[in-house]
Amino acid sequence: MSVKLHIIHTGTVHVSPALPFKDTVGNPNPLQLTSLTSYGRKNRIWIPVSAYLIEHPKGKILVDTGWHREISPKGKYSRLAQIKHMGLGHFLLNQGMLPTGESVVEQLANMGIKPQDLDFVILTHLHTDHASGLKMVKDAKQIMVSEEELSDTKKYPIRYARSMWNGITFKPFSFKNTGAGPVGRSLDLFEDGSLELIQIPGHTSGLTAVKVNSGDKYALIFSDGGYATKSWKEMIPPGTALDEAQALKSLEWIRETCLNENCVESFANHDPDVAPHTLELP
Ligand SMILES: [Zn+2]
Repeated sequence: MSVKLHIIHTGTVHVSPALPFKDTVGNPNPLQLTSLTSYGRKNRIWIPVSAYLIEHPKGKILVDTGWHREISPKGKYSRLAQIKHMGLGHFLLNQGMLPTGESVVEQLANMGIKPQDLDFVILTHLHTDHASGLKMVKDAKQIMVSEEELSDTKKYPIRYARSMWNGITFKPFSFKNTGAGPVGRSLDLFEDGSLELIQIPGHTSGLTAVKVNSGDKYALIFSDGGYATKSWKEMIPPGTALDEAQALKSLEWIRETCLNENCVESFANHDPDVAPHTLELP
């Protein structure tokens, strides 16, 4: 049976270009990436916020949740609604916009899928633009996030909006020493090699790539390990990382994995050059 991977855009996010693409000349600090500073207000760009539905023979899997309807209650940009949803600090760093019909649950409903039909929701990490929509899919059978990521949310609470998962029961997972990925740690979700969750630390400690395998061929979702295809082509790491050296090592692994002839397609979460579409692996 084939595997289908749907690339879904759930609105957009407005950021300093130095957030997705590290500015090694200006070397801004995190405060400078916010719209409080002239550096952070300069040349801001809108980039897509992706989520992915994997229709796998062993279940339906949603990867990331995109923006919650709460940020744009009427489908329009709302400063107040966003500040209420994510807090002022996150709003200053990344402003979101979610047109009507583009939330993940609205798009799943168009495919005839209800949140309770989802066997797994997998969070690549818990930054606002990935975890915002969690409450809309709270009825999914299992909501998984890595233990490393959960531990980051406690160590570095300022980087997260923890209210986004109030009332959500996570099923934390641990990576095992499998030798896969930049640090040799991954989880074989169905224990048959068909779907690997691979630790690609740096941007956050628990950052997770999802590798969908079909025979020799595969597709790779690398989340914020790089923000676009040019990130691995030109080796431009993300502008914010808990561990910059490790982020670069993870990006090297992403590059190798994407350049491999068996890689059918690869996806950065916020790549402006990736349009929503469906990929079918045999
Ligand atoms: Zn992101």
